[in-house]
Amino acid sequence: MAAWIEAVIEAYVGPMRAGKTERAMGFLRHMMRMESRGRGVPFAFVRPVLDNRQDNPTEIVDHNRTVLQGVEAVIIDHKKPEEMLTHPLIQAAKVVLIDEAQFFDRTVCRVVLDLFLAGKHIKLFGVDTDHLGRTFITIGGILGLADTKVIKMDTAICEVGECRRMATRTIRMIKGKPDSDPSREFVVEDRGATYVVACTRCFVDIMTKADIEIH
Ligand SMILES: [Zn+2]
Repeated sequence: MAAWIEAVIEAYVGPMRAGKTERAMGFLRHMMRMESRGRGVPFAFVRPVLDNRQDNPTEIVDHNRTVLQGVEAVIIDHKKPEEMLTHPLIQAAKVVLIDEAQFFDRTVCRVVLDLFLAGKHIKLFGVDTDHLGRTFITIGGILGLADTKVIKMDTAICEVGECRRMATRTIRMIKGKPDSDPSREFVVEDRGATYVVACTRCFVDIMTKADIEIH
């Protein structure tokens, strides 16, 4: 068995477009290569059911619309993360990747701890802060649990004007304006919303100035 397969919790967090999905797919491709050489370990790729970016939720697709062949996502109700503990593919897995972890109920933290105590290698991927800069409670809990924390993955580039600094924040846009409504849930590409990633300077500028336009 590969030396890196051991009980451990790793968290990969950052804004949108920080390369989290690509990192997850890189791990999946690696495990599939090992499998093709007869040195594979059972693994599962888990995502919450409300991640509605695609028609076929079990399909694993990167941002270039490249479909990863030969593997399907395990779909778990975001309000019932405990179902991971009884899902046969997850029970059998030695490596469990959990994508879009911010959408799961905070009780996922207990589930992740139980999976870890059952000897599994767990990699979690998620957006750490919402459109107002608030921590997702679930991700806060996961970062507390994680043995390895890869925070603010550094491939996101600020999209405000010509800025191009490293982006660590995500802004939601509704009809071309930054959304400052605290009551709305942060849902991927929902109800006509689009998302802009921003550096700290642009984020503070935009969130503290009324009616600013982003070009
Ligand atoms: Zn910026």
